[in-house]
Amino acid sequence: MKKTLAIIVLLLAAIGAGAFAFMQWKANSGAKAEINELTEKAAESEKKQEEAEKSLAEVKEQLAPLQLTAQQMEAVKAAFSNGVTLKDLEAAYAKDKNLSAERLLGLAGVRLLTKGNQDPATLSAFEKALEMTDWTKQQKVICAAQYALASAGKQIKPLSECAMPPQMAKAEEASKDGHDAQAGAKDAHGKDTKKDDKSGHGNKKVVHWDYEGSMGPENWGKEFPRCGRGKEQSPLDIKGPFQKVRFSVAPDYKPGPLRIVNNGHTIQVNVNPGSKLRIDGVPFDLLQFHFHRPSEEAINGKRQAMVAHFVHKSSDGELAVLGVLLQMGNENPAIKTLWEHAPAKEGPEQQPEGVAFNPASLLPRDLDFYHYDGSLTTPPCTEKVKFYILRNMATISSEQVSQFPFKMNARPLQPLNQRVIMAN
Ligand SMILES: [Zn+2]
Repeated sequence: MKKTLAIIVLLLAAIGAGAFAFMQWKANSGAKAEINELTEKAAESEKKQEEAEKSLAEVKEQLAPLQLTAQQMEAVKAAFSNGVTLKDLEAAYAKDKNLSAERLLGLAGVRLLTKGNQDPATLSAFEKALEMTDWTKQQKVICAAQYALASAGKQIKPLSECAMPPQMAKAEEASKDGHDAQAGAKDAHGKDTKKDDKSGHGNKKVVHWDYEGSMGPENWGKEFPRCGRGKEQSPLDIKGPFQKVRFSVAPDYKPGPLRIVNNGHTIQVNVNPGSKLRIDGVPFDLLQFHFHRPSEEAINGKRQAMVAHFVHKSSDGELAVLGVLLQMGNENPAIKTLWEHAPAKEGPEQQPEGVAFNPASLLPRDLDFYHYDGSLTTPPCTEKVKFYILRNMATISSEQVSQFPFKMNARPLQPLNQRVIMAN
């Protein structure tokens, strides 16, 4: 257990969440002398934590590539060891109603080491941090929160992407209380070649959520509250009456090296900086695009063969998804290029030599759209995502559909609730 805690501390430290939280408090309190005193006290009382410290030392070299200074680490440790810090931190943050995911996680981390991992407020703090996380960017936040919740006995399997570095995994293996973490670590070693076995013990693949079975969409809400309780979820069945809007979307996508990955849930193409979508004049950076089969969105109840989702983010952190429905028809030359390089099995991103791709080659000419406020269509189903589903479709041949390595990766349609669908 202590080793599990040590790993969580490391993960928190790796993203600087704990350090950041502590530094924030330090800045607010300005009590340097007090910190020294705390550090001394911490040193005295740390005998109980010696075992965990040992684990920390073992894996400390992991911190170097993560660019965490030793000073920060000491501060984090001192902060964690004293309840006064937690109280002051909570007071310092009380005024801020919109805490970032990192700060929430930092607070949760300090609480974890102050109150232990069975404290209900600790768990809900981690759950909140997880829910707040930007799923496309903050993987380390996700991993730290998931490991913390798993260590408290919550039914959470950290994402396979959260596989621990070998040394951390070794410490975890020795403690013999982390089957899933071990599986994840082996995954990271690249020994996971048997992808088909998705169930039971001894299987090497960590399946965190899926599109069918016990980890299917109807059960996502158990691990990701927003998926079950959110009122503005995606995808939607798009039907009128529509509220008219008078702005347009204008893509400025650039060709770049093809970076393509099979992440176990979809085929995704990661995009280098420089491609933008202007929505009503506001620039959004294109981060990646990926595919669902069949299309997640329906129009008047009808789903298409597939959909491409282009995921964008503004400088304010707002997410916008442009959806291009792919209806069964002629072969799509852009998709032909992608499928030639799409890995059939889950694995790291591939960058085939000398292959360039322009995301604009997937767009229809006419960019009229349907628009609504929705959510990520995969866990954690974070809301406040703007959707722009193009009214005009591109085509894909039945052969190309059958070449897509996922038979079904579409979330069921979600209730509209109080929302109004717009169209330009
Ligand atoms: Zn999608």
